[in-house]
Amino acid sequence: MNNISVIGSGTMGNGIAHVYAQNGYKVALIDVQQNALEKALATISRNFDRQISKGTLTEDDKAMALGRIKTFTNLEEGVKSADLVVEAATENISVKLDLFRQLDQICKESTILATNTSSISITKIAAVTGRADKVIGMHFMNPVPVMKLVEVIRGYATSDEVTSKIMDLSKKLDKVPVEVNDYPGFVANRILMPMINEAIYTLYEGVAGIEEIDTVMKLGMAHPMGPLQLADFIGLDVCLSILRVLFDGFGNPKYAPCPLLVNMVEAGFKGVKSGEGFYKYTPGVKEFVVSPQFKK
Ligand code: NAD
Repeated sequence: MNNISVIGSGTMGNGIAHVYAQNGYKVALIDVQQNALEKALATISRNFDRQISKGTLTEDDKAMALGRIKTFTNLEEGVKSADLVVEAATENISVKLDLFRQLDQICKESTILATNTSSISITKIAAVTGRADKVIGMHFMNPVPVMKLVEVIRGYATSDEVTSKIMDLSKKLDKVPVEVNDYPGFVANRILMPMINEAIYTLYEGVAGIEEIDTVMKLGMAHPMGPLQLADFIGLDVCLSILRVLFDGFGNPKYAPCPLLVNMVEAGFKGVKSGEGFYKYTPGVKEFVVSPQFKK
């Protein structure tokens, strides 16, 4: 496996392209928006600089890695020689099903089709292709260059051979792959999202304030970030859509999203990406404060 195509150059796509290029793979980075590709290349370059300043990468490594990344807005051109496609486009089922239908037609017969989805069924995505044995979840964590885990998700029909190729490949990226089966939320989000939802319920019911809840979990449970801050980082809209997948998939009321989360997303308070969620963020400033919405 040498040619990797990454679809979507947003938060995750740029990180995924970064780690493949750094580890010697040729990367085709594809997005429908030219400006997203330009922004991704700038982010990758900045993140390489951060590694250089820490002494884990040289200027030459950076130049060679950047030289391995080509960008495309045309899907067919970007995937035609791919041995592996890693789809990291917007978390929207119709976008993903449409992409996988096209990929199945355009890609070589041997190409493995992986998705970085946080919550959509791998089995459902695989079913729109004629190669369900070669469709798999390769779920990287944010920020991709830093986080060690890759959750490798086997769809109902994913073959043993494809699973072991993706496990091996993840190790070559210096990641730690964990194999899991395809049920709603897989493992990571099935455990994480109910915790975040419970933290939001704790706030909603007035048990404690934002900083108090986050402090309890940071200092009491050794979490590096409190659950409300983490929700802001993930994106409150993303948290809500994953909770809905869990709720629909299991039909269990324990996954029902907290009404406060629903209200915040509907009002456009999506966390870091919109500038305000449980906390308020100022671009370019590391410090942040509790959102004034909660001080009324
Ligand atoms: P994002 O919104 O930052 O980026 C998505 C990119 O996909 C955008 O640049 C958009 O232009 C592009 N896109 C949309 N439709 C496309 C298409 N048809 N072809 C090519 N490009 C297309 O999203 P993100 O946060 O990077 O998430 C991407 C995927 O990774 C989602 O499936 C998400 O669930 C998953 N994920 C996200 C996180 C996270 O913390 N953000 C963590 C793990 C997994």
